[in-house]
Amino acid sequence: MRLAARALNISPSPTLTIDAQAKKMQAAGVQVINFSAGEPDFDTPEHIKQAAITALKKGMTKYTPVTGTLELKQAIRQKLKIDNQLDYRLEEIVVTVGAKHALYNAIQVLCGVGDEVILPAPYWVSYLEQIKLAESTPVIVPTKAENNFKLTPEELTAAINERTKLIILNSPANPTGTVYTAQEMAALGEILVKYKIYLISDEIYEKLVYNQIKPVSIAALDQKLKELTVVVNGVSKTYAMTGWRIGYAAAPLAIAKAMADIQSHCTSNPTSIAQAASVAALSGSQEDVSAMVAVFQKRRDFMYQEVSTIPGVSCNLPQGAFYLFPDFSAYFGKHFQGKEIKGASDLASAWLEKIQVAAVPGIVFGDDRFIRLSYATSWEDIKEGVNRIKTFLTCLA
Ligand code: PMP
Ligand code: GLU
Repeated sequence: MRLAARALNISPSPTLTIDAQAKKMQAAGVQVINFSAGEPDFDTPEHIKQAAITALKKGMTKYTPVTGTLELKQAIRQKLKIDNQLDYRLEEIVVTVGAKHALYNAIQVLCGVGDEVILPAPYWVSYLEQIKLAESTPVIVPTKAENNFKLTPEELTAAINERTKLIILNSPANPTGTVYTAQEMAALGEILVKYKIYLISDEIYEKLVYNQIKPVSIAALDQKLKELTVVVNGVSKTYAMTGWRIGYAAAPLAIAKAMADIQSHCTSNPTSIAQAASVAALSGSQEDVSAMVAVFQKRRDFMYQEVSTIPGVSCNLPQGAFYLFPDFSAYFGKHFQGKEIKGASDLASAWLEKIQVAAVPGIVFGDDRFIRLSYATSWEDIKEGVNRIKTFLTCLA
């Protein structure tokens, strides 16, 4: 086999791989507790499903414009105005096959050989591979747990050089749940404007925030910053629509146009029926979202409390998304049945094999002291899963 270098250089999405492994074990009758899932466990709200059924019955089964239907782009435009104080023209909005696709297109448009992309770690898994697919160089900048995993202006400045083209920011963040304040965003934004560095602002977890926290859209802070920013968002997480595959980007015209041109040769439009459902999601009642967020908050509080009682484990209280990201490094160097636990990857593998708890080791997010635990799962599973972990850890010698 003579595959291209980019194919040899790519690894599969570890989050999707572990989740698939857990689901396969569950299907085979194994009582797996799945803390690996990066998707809400709720069903898509009924009025959204109905909109898809209506669209199907009305015969909306043909190609739509590449960048999305007028109705959906108008709904997105309105959403960006009301929620984010961002005014985009319809031509500056591109509807994509999930937010992942929007990120991919944006990176392809902005980055090429020789360009560096700043990636604060912990980072979400696909950013790294997408940067590599664009033949660019990721510059991973570790952040500190004591700074709540936020990139500081000093860390940002130190990472910039003449090859720096882009930075990817994700607030609320996967896997840490960190949410930047407006002041923190403004301080980073000032530096990006000064050095004319493009910015992808991944806002997919925007609505999943707790204790009345309101994330800001960095592009809304300053017009010069907006001219450098690609805002990425989608319906997957907010509306429990991961399978529908609708995301979107809003960007300065030249970027949006190039993203659309790439898309016109790769996927064409995202699924017509899913687009109709997304209009209902964005324009319809947001009551289901509030209800889901309230449940996520209760689970977060509960899981955080439970995990905090594990000796030696430290964990920041996440302010958004649906993950906990505790530090298990106090257990490294210990042994289970004679085998050394060298890092979080060994620990997560042992959990899956020995106690049937699936979770994602921090190495895939750029730091192997941590393990990501998703609380997009039932109350009973959270209780049982954390108990299994506690018992397992007390058995380490
Ligand atoms: N960004 C982040 C940070 C995510 O966690 C995800 C989850 N898959 C995505 C983007 C992509 O979402 P989508 O399902 O819309 O492709
Ligand atoms: N974003 C989710 C996660 O981090 C879904 C999986 C994926 O798309 O990689 O688990």
